[in-house]
Amino acid sequence: MYTAKINNFLKKKKYPLYFFILAIFFSVYAFTVNRINSYNISIKNNFDFFLRSNEFKNIKEFVFENLNSPYKEYSYIVENNDTIEKILKKHNVTTDDINNIASAVVRKKLTNIFAGTEVKFVIKEESGNKKIVNLFYPINAITSVEIKRNKNNFIISENTLKLEKKEIISSNTIKNNLYSSAVEAGIEPNIIVEFANIFGFEVDFQRDIRVGDKFEVHYERFVDENGIVKNTGKIIYASMFVNNRELSLYNFKFKNKEGYYDVDGKSVIKTLMKTPINGARLSSSFGMRKHPILGFNKLHQGTDFAAPRGTPIMASGSGVITRAQKYKGYGNYVSIRHNSTYVTAYGHMSKFGRGIRKGVRVTQGQTIGYVGSTGMSTGPHLHYEVISNGKRINSQRLKLPTGKVLNNEARNRFEIERIKIDVKIASLRKNK
Ligand SMILES: [Zn+2]
Repeated sequence: MYTAKINNFLKKKKYPLYFFILAIFFSVYAFTVNRINSYNISIKNNFDFFLRSNEFKNIKEFVFENLNSPYKEYSYIVENNDTIEKILKKHNVTTDDINNIASAVVRKKLTNIFAGTEVKFVIKEESGNKKIVNLFYPINAITSVEIKRNKNNFIISENTLKLEKKEIISSNTIKNNLYSSAVEAGIEPNIIVEFANIFGFEVDFQRDIRVGDKFEVHYERFVDENGIVKNTGKIIYASMFVNNRELSLYNFKFKNKEGYYDVDGKSVIKTLMKTPINGARLSSSFGMRKHPILGFNKLHQGTDFAAPRGTPIMASGSGVITRAQKYKGYGNYVSIRHNSTYVTAYGHMSKFGRGIRKGVRVTQGQTIGYVGSTGMSTGPHLHYEVISNGKRINSQRLKLPTGKVLNNEARNRFEIERIKIDVKIASLRKNK
């Protein structure tokens, strides 16, 4: 009866009606797609585009997901205090699998996971039991762990990315501060920190930088096969245009000593003065001594210079004042941070130099205070300390990795290296 009706309908050749129904069907379909994706897709005009688009892919996935496949793929972003065990528990994986996997990763020391990274896994649901088929997570920037089910066991393997070293150049004009302008240029934070460190003796990033100053940095990046940056290497060249002068620094290694040098082969690391005071005599050196006031043996963690009260004390190197105040037994005390490694400190001053206070930048040789006998002191003298990475060291034995200016063979090698770097950065700038 029904078939007869259709035959009848076709015999009447009401094809226009047929197409009309089809058109309605497509309209409804389009409407549904819109609802699913919240995108406005016009099937009429963009059908080809639609077939190739992500929207179609989403629908495909949507359809496959609803095929009731026993396999489900998960992508989980690690939260603070997560462990592989906790993540699997959250997804109701069978206890057997959790225990097997957890003990295996502990045994192989592959338990490190980090908040914000992605853990991917496939679970197969079998008569109500959720079993792990495979599991994949990164343990550092270049290594990931892959766990695959093999019957009732798991095969665990570590995959290390093959990274390619790329030398890149990046530059920008400073609009607000170095950090934000460097981030804007796509420079990785650890490179920015290293950059600031290299220029630490030369530039005060809080005070010297003006809007419109420029910087350029040439450094190594390590990328995976998808071109994604996985790590950074060293800075090969760095340049700043600040205070109306340009300072370019080149990485150079000679006889296992690596450092940064300007175009004239001068090291960026400036020596600290051994004796930041004129007309003084060394009265007590660094080391064990009987303390003149306390009376017992104590490590003297500085060098004392006896000098008449009021003798000017100099900053032994350029840097920023981190303290200018009365401080413990030191009396009137000044400390200066020179770079990320070195701090110098000066004690027992009678008074501070003009304008010397916390946060002020001083240059080598500038008067920061005057000899006195404040604090725990038996007579006018300067107590001078050099602190390297937080540890007091003997200033008189201090060997800063200076070499000050490269000469002879080192200089010749440096010139060749510098020209190579210049050629390289010129071509990188062109191809940017
Ligand atoms: Zn002392």
